[in-house]
Amino acid sequence: MNPEIAMACRHDRQLRGIVDGADLLTADGIGIVMVSRLRRDPLPERVTGCDLLFELLEAGSRERWSFYLLGASEATSKRAADVIEARYPRAKVVGRQHGFFDPSEDERIVADIAAKRPDVLVVALGAPKAERWIHAYRDRLRAAVAVGVGGSLDIVAGTVRRAPRIWQRLHAEWLYRLINQPSRWRRQLILPRFALQALRYKDKPRARRS
Ligand code: UDP
Repeated sequence: MNPEIAMACRHDRQLRGIVDGADLLTADGIGIVMVSRLRRDPLPERVTGCDLLFELLEAGSRERWSFYLLGASEATSKRAADVIEARYPRAKVVGRQHGFFDPSEDERIVADIAAKRPDVLVVALGAPKAERWIHAYRDRLRAAVAVGVGGSLDIVAGTVRRAPRIWQRLHAEWLYRLINQPSRWRRQLILPRFALQALRYKDKPRARRS
């Protein structure tokens, strides 16, 4: 969950359904955590797609899990698979597919994933494209877990650098990304609107329960 998805859920009922139907939502962005604190219903911490992926790889290396990588460019996907095999020797990359395919290829890709039955399907198609794709095929993928991880394969592959720890600790990772990828500025305009809406939002009993 990040502010962009939260805002999109206000008018996109399908996306709202996907979010409500997810088994696990993590706070991908300090905006979500801050708003939870201001509303006195604090989330324990931020867990980005990248944090989640690295933790899964660590656990996968201990438990010998299999991974299927879906998303990012062909070069990034290949490099990410090589890095994972070198750094997490007991985690196995059983398949991969770059993320710039035509929807007519969905059936082939779903069949390939189902045949390989990965423990973890890592979907790096950007949000919310990844979440929509997982939702559309979740019953046929035969993956134990499917998780959207945003642009994390670029970080695993080393093509994009994650903000240094000090920026992360100061909750300024969004600013670091903006400086390094200025084309993202338009997307970040959503942040102040999200903050305003979130603070004004009145819980309805039903929404509160869900
Ligand atoms: N991507 C993809 N297919 C697409 C669009 C994007 O595989 O059709 C990949 C892109 O190469 C990048 C990731 O999805 O690796 C999106 O990264 P971004 O930083 O935009 O995602 P966010 O973290 O903001 O969700």
